[in-house]
Amino acid sequence: MSTTKKYEFKAEVKKLLDILVHSLYTSREIFIRELISNSSDALDKLRFEQNRGTEIFEKELPLEIRIDFDEKKKLLTITDTGIGMTRDEVITNIGTIAKSGTEDFVKMISESKGDLNNIIGKFGVGFYSVFMAAKEVVIKTKSFIVDEPAVHWKSDGLGDFEISELEEKRKRGTKIEIHLKEDASEFCQKWKLESVIKKHSNFITFPIYLGTEKINTVSAIWREPKSSINKEQYAEFYKFLSYDTNEPMDVIHKTIDAPIQFNALLFIPKKSSNYFWFDRENYGLDLYVRRVLIQHKNKDLLPEYLSFIKGVVDSEDLPLNISRETLQENIVFTKISSSVTNAVLSYLAEKANNDSNGYLEFWKEHGKIFKLGYSDFSNHEKYIELIRFNSSACKNQEELVSLLEYITRTKEGQKEIYYISGTNRTAIELDPHMEIFKNKGLEVLYLFDPVDEFVIQSIRKYKDYHFKSVDNIDLNKLKDLKDVEEKKKEFEDLSGDDKKHFSSLLAKMKNILGDKVEDVVESKRLVNSASCLVSKDEGLSSSMQKILKLTNKETAQQKKIFEINPSHLLIRNIISVYKSDANDEFISDVTEQLFEAALLQEESLDDPHVLAKRINQTLEKASEWYVTVKGIIKN
Ligand code: ADP
Repeated sequence: MSTTKKYEFKAEVKKLLDILVHSLYTSREIFIRELISNSSDALDKLRFEQNRGTEIFEKELPLEIRIDFDEKKKLLTITDTGIGMTRDEVITNIGTIAKSGTEDFVKMISESKGDLNNIIGKFGVGFYSVFMAAKEVVIKTKSFIVDEPAVHWKSDGLGDFEISELEEKRKRGTKIEIHLKEDASEFCQKWKLESVIKKHSNFITFPIYLGTEKINTVSAIWREPKSSINKEQYAEFYKFLSYDTNEPMDVIHKTIDAPIQFNALLFIPKKSSNYFWFDRENYGLDLYVRRVLIQHKNKDLLPEYLSFIKGVVDSEDLPLNISRETLQENIVFTKISSSVTNAVLSYLAEKANNDSNGYLEFWKEHGKIFKLGYSDFSNHEKYIELIRFNSSACKNQEELVSLLEYITRTKEGQKEIYYISGTNRTAIELDPHMEIFKNKGLEVLYLFDPVDEFVIQSIRKYKDYHFKSVDNIDLNKLKDLKDVEEKKKEFEDLSGDDKKHFSSLLAKMKNILGDKVEDVVESKRLVNSASCLVSKDEGLSSSMQKILKLTNKETAQQKKIFEINPSHLLIRNIISVYKSDANDEFISDVTEQLFEAALLQEESLDDPHVLAKRINQTLEKASEWYVTVKGIIKN
């Protein structure tokens, strides 16, 4: 052996190792999955080089993985004939963590308490997971590059590793010798190894030999006819592919022959990934060409809004030596990708039609990501049929409606689809803007998610119906629609004289509010509320303005029109006060209060202190009157 050199692991590796070495997990068997998956990747890489015509050391060696065990020595070895590693590669690959998101991952597992098994099982923790079961690991590896010497690596996973060149002749590929911890001796027993490999690695596309026996299925299940595969096999493959422990929600298995041949086996997970925030990179479909893996997690086969889909695409029509860098420019690839997208959208459309409860489940889990498809113009027509909202026609917040359902319920003469934004159903139903819609029996879509507003803005119209926010409708368009319930008339219409007083009261209110409003006018829409703020027709809805304000501080607040309802007790009383003394301070108190309360309701009141103080002062006065009127004896 040549001189041996010692190296320390990088800090983040040490942290990960520390967690893996010193804890006990029931799911530690997954280290076998991780090592087999590394071997499989190494074999894929080798085949890729072969297809490119690269010169390869021992090119006639069969591509395979071998697992051997020695119960007496407590030794497990995993050997592949893959691409191998040079000395430099060993140092960079095994010793640092290059994967994006790993820092977050290490942080997450170091902070999580009972849930570790689940997290570790779900993610590829990679090579280091071997130290959950090993007290020492030796790697012997020979690169496929002809002149590179074989390399020997050894570590106990505690802080450093040593490395040297091997003078003995080695076959191409990598052998991992795992000296098992005392309590991990089950991993050198045949039955255990067999069950672990069958459970986690059954669909590896290279043969896996346990001793002399080949134990994995080695079939490209996605190329088999649909009729030959049962639900359990699909589920097993899905679990293998996704590391999910649940069955999939749906399986989409397609064989397309023209114009371009490909097979796709796709899955919709039952649960949306909770780890989405740091796991953004971990999506994509595996791309195969004639059963040869070209790329793991290809991100261009499906648009991002369908990134919750897991699966495999395999085509006869792409060249085997295609480079990953130029895939996107390949016309065949582009056609496959649009066809795959199409297949998913058609499947969802069918599901929506035939299984509305199932679709509801789908929407609850994946709707938040799916919605982002508003920017996919090439599939606009399909997308628009698949989006769902809650609406005033629903019985509760769980129910959903499609746009098609909405327009089958429109009133005669209704040309628009109405919507309102709010945090929840109760809040929206208390919103004064809703009153006229309830009165006319018009359905309103309820938008609870800020993204919904972008969705509506970007799709602009559905069939011939434009979207219209309830706070900037043109009331003239509703004029001819009949009320569904007779307005309860608590007050006679204002007499000619009072009408005049009311108009000058409105002018006074405008004076009080000054530049803060565009105008103060009589409301034609309100029933139970005294006042509300509305946008000018064609202005931005208030929630859109809110979003803009959040994203760009410079956007000036659009001035609104303040509507006052003369058939409301408070306003009637104020008309009387105004008649007796046009300058009574109570008028400005009430005006400011109504205005600020309206701002508060649309979440655009900057500072609530003045409003809170005013309410409290008013209540203080009211308490005096209350005590007096009720004849309560003060103590
Ligand atoms: P990951 O496989 O997710 O990249 P790992 O920690 O499991 O992370 O492995 C790190 C790197 O070490 C791999 O990306 C690969 O380059 C190299 N490697 C691991 N196992 C093998 C192997 N059997 N043959 C060749 N290279 C390997």
